[in-house]
Amino acid sequence: MNILVINAGSSSLKYQLLDPESGVLLAKGLCERIGIDGKFTYKAQGKKTLDAIDIPMPTHSEAIQAVLDALADGENGVISSMSEIGAVGHRVVHGGEAFNKSVLIDGAVLQAIEDCIPLAPLHNPANLTGIRACQKVMPGVPMVAVFDTAFHQTMPAKAYMYALPYAWYEEDKVRRYGFHGTSHKYVAGRAAAMLGKKPEEVKLISCHLGNGSSIAAVDSGKSVDTSMGFTPLAGVPMGTRSGDLDAGILQYEMNKRGMGIDEMLNVLNKKSGVEGLSLVSSDFRDLENAAGKGDAKAALAQEKFAYEVKKYVGAYAAAMGGVDAVIFTAGVGENDKAVRSMVCQGLEYMGVKLDAAANDVRGKETVLSAPDSKVKVLLIPTNEELMIAMDTAEIVKQ
Ligand code: AMP
Repeated sequence: MNILVINAGSSSLKYQLLDPESGVLLAKGLCERIGIDGKFTYKAQGKKTLDAIDIPMPTHSEAIQAVLDALADGENGVISSMSEIGAVGHRVVHGGEAFNKSVLIDGAVLQAIEDCIPLAPLHNPANLTGIRACQKVMPGVPMVAVFDTAFHQTMPAKAYMYALPYAWYEEDKVRRYGFHGTSHKYVAGRAAAMLGKKPEEVKLISCHLGNGSSIAAVDSGKSVDTSMGFTPLAGVPMGTRSGDLDAGILQYEMNKRGMGIDEMLNVLNKKSGVEGLSLVSSDFRDLENAAGKGDAKAALAQEKFAYEVKKYVGAYAAAMGGVDAVIFTAGVGENDKAVRSMVCQGLEYMGVKLDAAANDVRGKETVLSAPDSKVKVLLIPTNEELMIAMDTAEIVKQ
């Protein structure tokens, strides 16, 4: 059964058509500038690539229609009719406490996603628009919602509660939710397979290090803690996000610089992280280059990032009472051997022994640790779309 995976933004829509059983990607692409003029990109192996061609897309419905037309195109398509799409899997950012797993979408689910809008005001409305557009263009095709937050709903209260007035949780839903759940779930599943164990038999620390980064402690296949919090601003420093900081800094700097809270949050989200610290870039390739040429701030930003990731590895090993494998994934985790090496350095005492030769690799499933390393270190390229397709197929089959 082929699954169409949709990741809808406010004016864009990413799509992939996958066979979750074989893992084969049939086609993928992007609709951009929805509601403006409409640009359409389509790639399928052995077919002509369409690169940002003009297709009018006043709304997401025309965008979905363009996707279906391309997929079923007589010459350039990969399916002969829409009936070859068994279901649609939608990425939804926030499921709040309502969803601890992926679900078949019905009226009640749509309402619950809508109820989570205050928790993800930018993302959930766009995700809902994508779902409604698909329902309109593909009536009768089952739709599944896959949430970034759902995998972390297994966290115990001691991990998800903040030490804040209890009413903020009860009345305002302030708690740690965590994000990147689909990625953490996927790599944790792959890690267990690479170790030749069942998910229930292993303790894993998953480091999703990209432009946004989060670390998750996964015990017996379940997330028990994660570094992102109520919002994706928390945890380790990121490309432009600060990660954790002393809340007292807000008042101090807002008074000193005459900033309002919106401006402050803008700085913390968009002008901080390794970019803010290095004054060079949010991209780790640029940091590596600049550091190589002797830029001390770029070197500091890299070092700070790796240091904070390392601290989470230590913390989560303590939280779980041990760890069988540390996983690196996402843009930085899959590609940046220097960062991986810095994270692992000094963890030999807890049984982490990186193999420098094995670590000289990018973007493919690899055991990076030495054969005698008690804790395995794994590089696992993430595949959120495949995870969404796998969840969707499983739910539709039930
Ligand atoms: P993601 O958010 O997972 O797409 O990751 C994007 C980030 O990965 C970029 O901003 C870069 O910092 C990083 N990245 C991608 N390729 C490389 C590379 N070859 N070396 C180091 N970092 C990389």
